[in-house]
Amino acid sequence: MIRIHAIQTGTIGIKKDQIEGRGQGGQRLLNILTDKNWAEPVPIYAWVIEHPEGIIVVDTGETARTADKSYFPRWHPFFKLAARPYVCPDDEIGPQLRRLGIAPRDVRWVVLTHMHTDHAGGLAHFPTSEILVTRGEYQATRGIAGRINGYLPQHWPTWFQPRLIDFAQQPVGPFTASLPLTSSEDVMLLSTPGHTAHHMSVLVRDGNLSYILAGDTSYTERLMLKQVSDGVSPDPAVTVRTLGQIRAYAQSNPTVYLPSHDPDGASRLANRTTVALSEPTAA
Ligand SMILES: [Zn+2]
Repeated sequence: MIRIHAIQTGTIGIKKDQIEGRGQGGQRLLNILTDKNWAEPVPIYAWVIEHPEGIIVVDTGETARTADKSYFPRWHPFFKLAARPYVCPDDEIGPQLRRLGIAPRDVRWVVLTHMHTDHAGGLAHFPTSEILVTRGEYQATRGIAGRINGYLPQHWPTWFQPRLIDFAQQPVGPFTASLPLTSSEDVMLLSTPGHTAHHMSVLVRDGNLSYILAGDTSYTERLMLKQVSDGVSPDPAVTVRTLGQIRAYAQSNPTVYLPSHDPDGASRLANRTTVALSEPTAA
Protein backbone atom coordinates (compact mmCIF):
# COMPACT_ATOMS: atom_id res chain seq x y z
CA MET A 1 0.00 0.00 0.00
CA ILE A 2 1.20 3.49 -0.84
CA ARG A 3 0.61 6.48 1.40
CA ILE A 4 1.61 10.05 0.55
CA HIS A 5 1.97 12.86 3.10
CA ALA A 6 2.35 16.59 2.51
CA ILE A 7 4.99 18.33 4.63
CA GLN A 8 4.88 22.11 4.62
CA THR A 9 8.24 23.60 5.54
CA GLY A 10 7.07 27.16 6.08
CA THR A 11 6.17 29.70 3.43
CA ILE A 12 7.92 31.94 0.95
CA GLY A 13 6.96 35.37 -0.27
CA ILE A 14 7.51 35.79 -4.02
CA LYS A 15 6.38 38.27 -6.66
CA LYS A 16 3.32 37.89 -8.86
CA ASP A 17 5.55 38.17 -11.95
CA GLN A 18 7.43 35.06 -10.78
CA ILE A 19 4.29 32.97 -10.45
CA GLU A 20 3.01 34.01 -13.88
CA GLY A 21 5.77 35.29 -16.13
CA ARG A 22 5.45 38.58 -17.99
CA GLY A 23 7.48 39.99 -20.89
CA GLN A 24 10.11 38.60 -23.25
CA GLY A 25 13.61 37.23 -22.75
CA GLY A 26 15.74 38.81 -20.02
CA GLN A 27 13.00 41.29 -19.27
CA ARG A 28 11.07 38.51 -17.53
CA LEU A 29 13.63 38.29 -14.71
CA LEU A 30 13.92 42.07 -14.50
CA ASN A 31 10.14 42.28 -14.16
CA ILE A 32 10.33 39.98 -11.13
CA LEU A 33 13.08 42.04 -9.47
CA THR A 34 11.25 45.33 -10.03
CA ASP A 35 7.69 44.05 -9.47
CA LYS A 36 6.14 45.81 -6.47
CA ASN A 37 3.39 43.22 -6.20
CA TRP A 38 4.14 40.43 -3.75
CA ALA A 39 1.81 37.48 -3.95
CA GLU A 40 0.32 36.06 -0.77
CA PRO A 41 3.17 33.96 0.74
CA VAL A 42 2.98 30.48 -0.76
CA PRO A 43 3.56 27.19 1.07
CA ILE A 44 6.82 25.28 0.57
CA TYR A 45 5.83 21.62 0.27
CA ALA A 46 7.88 18.48 0.36
CA TRP A 47 6.26 15.04 0.04
CA VAL A 48 6.76 11.71 1.73
CA ILE A 49 5.76 8.46 0.07
CA GLU A 50 5.39 5.39 2.28
CA HIS A 51 6.08 2.62 -0.21
CA PRO A 52 6.58 -1.13 0.33
CA GLU A 53 10.13 -0.80 -1.11
CA GLY A 54 11.05 1.99 1.29
CA ILE A 55 10.27 5.55 2.27
CA ILE A 56 10.70 8.14 -0.48
CA VAL A 57 10.99 11.87 0.18
CA VAL A 58 10.42 14.25 -2.72
CA ASP A 59 12.21 17.57 -2.12
CA THR A 60 13.43 18.59 1.31
CA GLY A 61 11.85 22.03 1.71
CA GLU A 62 13.57 25.04 3.22
CA THR A 63 15.68 25.48 6.34
CA ALA A 64 15.10 27.81 9.29
CA ARG A 65 18.69 28.97 8.84
CA THR A 66 17.36 31.28 6.10
CA ALA A 67 16.31 33.62 8.92
CA ASP A 68 20.03 34.30 9.49
CA LYS A 69 20.97 37.57 7.78
CA SER A 70 24.13 36.09 6.34
CA TYR A 71 22.48 33.01 4.84
CA PHE A 72 21.89 34.47 1.38
CA PRO A 73 24.72 36.04 -0.60
CA ARG A 74 24.25 39.76 -0.19
CA TRP A 75 25.33 40.52 -3.75
CA HIS A 76 22.56 38.42 -5.27
CA PRO A 77 19.61 40.58 -6.40
CA PHE A 78 17.06 37.78 -6.37
CA PHE A 79 17.43 37.03 -2.66
CA LYS A 80 17.62 40.71 -1.86
CA LEU A 81 14.58 41.76 -3.89
CA ALA A 82 12.38 38.81 -4.70
CA ALA A 83 12.31 36.02 -2.08
CA ARG A 84 11.24 36.10 1.56
CA PRO A 85 11.22 32.64 3.13
CA TYR A 86 9.68 32.18 6.56
CA VAL A 87 10.60 28.89 8.22
CA CYS A 88 10.66 28.00 11.95
CA PRO A 89 13.03 25.29 13.23
CA ASP A 90 10.02 23.03 13.87
CA ASP A 91 8.87 23.49 10.25
CA GLU A 92 11.96 21.75 8.89
CA ILE A 93 11.42 18.37 7.30
CA GLY A 94 13.37 16.38 9.92
CA PRO A 95 11.17 17.32 12.92
CA GLN A 96 8.03 16.98 10.79
CA LEU A 97 8.96 13.46 9.69
CA ARG A 98 9.55 12.50 13.32
CA ARG A 99 6.08 13.81 14.19
CA LEU A 100 4.71 11.43 11.53
CA GLY A 101 6.58 8.60 13.25
CA ILE A 102 9.23 8.39 10.51
CA ALA A 103 12.93 8.59 11.38
CA PRO A 104 14.81 10.54 8.69
CA ARG A 105 17.46 7.79 8.80
CA ASP A 106 14.82 5.34 7.60
CA VAL A 107 14.24 7.29 4.39
CA ARG A 108 15.59 5.19 1.53
CA TRP A 109 15.48 7.74 -1.31
CA VAL A 110 15.37 11.52 -1.47
CA VAL A 111 14.42 12.82 -4.91
CA LEU A 112 15.22 16.47 -5.61
CA THR A 113 13.02 17.86 -8.40
CA HIS A 114 15.69 20.57 -8.71
CA MET A 115 18.21 22.22 -6.39
CA HIS A 116 16.79 25.67 -5.67
CA THR A 117 17.17 26.54 -1.98
CA ASP A 118 13.53 25.93 -1.03
CA HIS A 119 13.83 22.34 -2.34
CA ALA A 120 17.38 21.50 -1.17
CA GLY A 121 17.29 23.41 2.15
CA GLY A 122 16.49 20.32 4.23
CA LEU A 123 19.26 18.07 2.84
CA ALA A 124 21.15 17.97 6.15
CA HIS A 125 18.39 15.78 7.62
CA PHE A 126 19.23 12.87 5.28
CA PRO A 127 22.85 11.77 5.76
CA THR A 128 22.00 8.08 5.24
CA SER A 129 19.55 8.28 2.33
CA GLU A 130 20.33 7.87 -1.35
CA ILE A 131 19.78 11.31 -2.89
CA LEU A 132 18.81 11.60 -6.54
CA VAL A 133 19.33 14.63 -8.77
CA THR A 134 19.42 14.82 -12.56
CA ARG A 135 22.94 15.07 -13.91
CA GLY A 136 22.10 18.29 -15.77
CA GLU A 137 20.60 19.95 -12.70
CA TYR A 138 23.61 19.04 -10.56
CA GLN A 139 26.02 20.36 -13.19
CA ALA A 140 24.03 23.60 -13.38
CA THR A 141 24.75 24.24 -9.69
CA ARG A 142 28.53 24.16 -10.18
CA GLY A 143 30.92 27.07 -10.47
CA ILE A 144 30.23 30.73 -10.78
CA ALA A 145 27.28 30.18 -13.15
CA GLY A 146 25.58 28.13 -10.46
CA ARG A 147 26.01 30.92 -7.91
CA ILE A 148 24.67 33.50 -10.36
CA ASN A 149 21.68 31.27 -11.03
CA GLY A 150 20.89 31.30 -7.30
CA TYR A 151 22.07 27.87 -6.18
CA LEU A 152 23.60 27.75 -2.67
CA PRO A 153 26.03 24.79 -2.70
CA GLN A 154 27.99 26.43 0.15
CA HIS A 155 25.13 25.35 2.45
CA TRP A 156 24.88 21.72 1.33
CA PRO A 157 26.25 19.09 3.71
CA THR A 158 29.89 18.13 3.11
CA TRP A 159 28.84 14.49 2.68
CA PHE A 160 26.42 15.41 -0.11
CA GLN A 161 27.16 13.27 -3.14
CA PRO A 162 23.96 12.59 -5.07
CA ARG A 163 23.27 9.76 -7.47
CA LEU A 164 23.08 11.51 -10.82
CA ILE A 165 20.12 10.59 -12.99
CA ASP A 166 20.31 10.21 -16.76
CA PHE A 167 16.92 9.64 -18.32
CA ALA A 168 16.23 6.93 -20.84
CA GLN A 169 14.09 7.70 -23.85
CA GLN A 170 11.39 5.63 -22.25
CA PRO A 171 8.00 7.25 -22.77
CA VAL A 172 5.27 7.26 -20.13
CA GLY A 173 2.17 8.47 -21.93
CA PRO A 174 3.02 11.94 -23.26
CA PHE A 175 6.28 12.17 -21.26
CA THR A 176 9.18 11.24 -23.51
CA ALA A 177 11.87 10.44 -20.92
CA SER A 178 11.58 8.62 -17.61
CA LEU A 179 13.27 6.22 -15.24
CA PRO A 180 11.62 3.82 -12.79
CA LEU A 181 12.57 4.43 -9.15
CA THR A 182 10.90 1.40 -7.57
CA SER A 183 11.33 -2.06 -9.04
CA SER A 184 7.53 -2.35 -9.13
CA GLU A 185 7.67 0.71 -11.48
CA ASP A 186 4.77 2.36 -9.71
CA VAL A 187 7.07 5.26 -8.82
CA MET A 188 8.71 6.80 -11.87
CA LEU A 189 11.02 9.77 -12.31
CA LEU A 190 9.90 11.98 -15.20
CA SER A 191 11.93 14.49 -17.13
CA THR A 192 9.94 17.73 -16.82
CA PRO A 193 12.25 20.52 -18.00
CA GLY A 194 11.16 24.16 -17.81
CA HIS A 195 11.47 25.87 -14.43
CA THR A 196 15.07 24.68 -14.67
CA ALA A 197 16.54 23.07 -17.78
CA HIS A 198 16.85 19.62 -16.11
CA HIS A 199 13.96 19.67 -13.67
CA MET A 200 12.28 16.33 -12.85
CA SER A 201 8.98 15.24 -11.35
CA VAL A 202 7.82 12.07 -9.65
CA LEU A 203 4.88 10.01 -10.89
CA VAL A 204 3.20 7.69 -8.38
CA ARG A 205 0.63 5.21 -9.69
CA ASP A 206 -1.61 3.72 -7.04
CA GLY A 207 -4.24 1.52 -8.69
CA ASN A 208 -5.81 3.68 -11.37
CA LEU A 209 -5.05 6.92 -9.53
CA SER A 210 -1.90 8.86 -10.47
CA TYR A 211 -0.09 11.50 -8.47
CA ILE A 212 2.40 13.88 -10.05
CA LEU A 213 4.74 15.39 -7.44
CA ALA A 214 5.66 18.17 -9.76
CA GLY A 215 8.19 20.45 -8.07
CA ASP A 216 8.05 23.85 -9.74
CA THR A 217 6.64 22.83 -13.15
CA SER A 218 4.02 25.47 -12.34
CA TYR A 219 3.12 27.27 -9.13
CA THR A 220 -0.56 26.25 -9.27
CA GLU A 221 -2.83 23.77 -11.00
CA ARG A 222 -4.68 26.65 -12.62
CA LEU A 223 -1.49 27.82 -14.35
CA MET A 224 -0.73 24.27 -15.52
CA LEU A 225 -4.18 24.06 -17.07
CA LYS A 226 -3.76 27.52 -18.57
CA GLN A 227 -0.34 26.43 -19.92
CA VAL A 228 1.42 29.56 -18.71
CA SER A 229 5.13 29.63 -17.84
CA ASP A 230 6.44 31.08 -14.60
CA GLY A 231 8.75 34.10 -14.75
CA VAL A 232 12.03 32.33 -13.97
CA SER A 233 12.08 29.54 -16.56
CA PRO A 234 15.12 29.99 -18.83
CA ASP A 235 12.98 29.10 -21.87
CA PRO A 236 9.23 29.56 -21.34
CA ALA A 237 8.46 27.47 -24.44
CA VAL A 238 10.06 24.43 -22.78
CA THR A 239 7.95 24.99 -19.66
CA VAL A 240 4.77 25.22 -21.73
CA ARG A 241 5.66 22.00 -23.56
CA THR A 242 6.07 20.18 -20.21
CA LEU A 243 2.79 21.63 -18.91
CA GLY A 244 1.16 20.32 -22.08
CA GLN A 245 2.48 16.83 -21.32
CA ILE A 246 1.13 17.00 -17.77
CA ARG A 247 -2.28 18.16 -18.98
CA ALA A 248 -2.36 15.44 -21.64
CA TYR A 249 -1.42 12.82 -19.06
CA ALA A 250 -4.17 14.05 -16.71
CA GLN A 251 -6.61 13.92 -19.61
CA SER A 252 -6.23 10.16 -19.97
CA ASN A 253 -5.40 9.23 -16.33
CA PRO A 254 -7.15 10.49 -13.18
CA THR A 255 -4.30 12.54 -11.68
CA VAL A 256 -3.73 14.46 -8.47
CA TYR A 257 -1.35 17.28 -9.46
CA LEU A 258 0.94 18.39 -6.63
CA PRO A 259 3.38 21.19 -7.42
CA SER A 260 5.49 22.47 -4.51
CA HIS A 261 3.88 25.84 -3.89
CA ASP A 262 0.17 25.45 -4.65
CA PRO A 263 -1.87 26.63 -1.64
CA ASP A 264 -4.49 23.97 -2.54
CA GLY A 265 -2.00 21.09 -2.84
CA ALA A 266 -2.40 19.54 0.61
CA SER A 267 -6.20 19.55 0.42
CA ARG A 268 -6.13 18.02 -3.08
CA LEU A 269 -3.90 15.26 -1.72
CA ALA A 270 -6.13 14.67 1.33
CA ASN A 271 -9.29 14.53 -0.80
CA ARG A 272 -7.65 12.81 -3.80
CA THR A 273 -8.95 15.62 -5.99
CA THR A 274 -7.95 14.92 -9.57
CA VAL A 275 -7.21 17.52 -12.22
CA ALA A 276 -10.53 18.84 -13.44
CA LEU A 277 -10.43 19.03 -17.20
CA SER A 278 -13.30 20.71 -18.92
CA GLU A 279 -14.31 19.51 -22.38
CA PRO A 280 -12.41 21.36 -25.08
CA THR A 281 -14.55 24.23 -26.26
CA ALA A 282 -14.61 25.64 -29.76
CA ALA A 283 -12.78 28.94 -30.03
ZN1 LIG B 1 12.50 26.42 -8.00
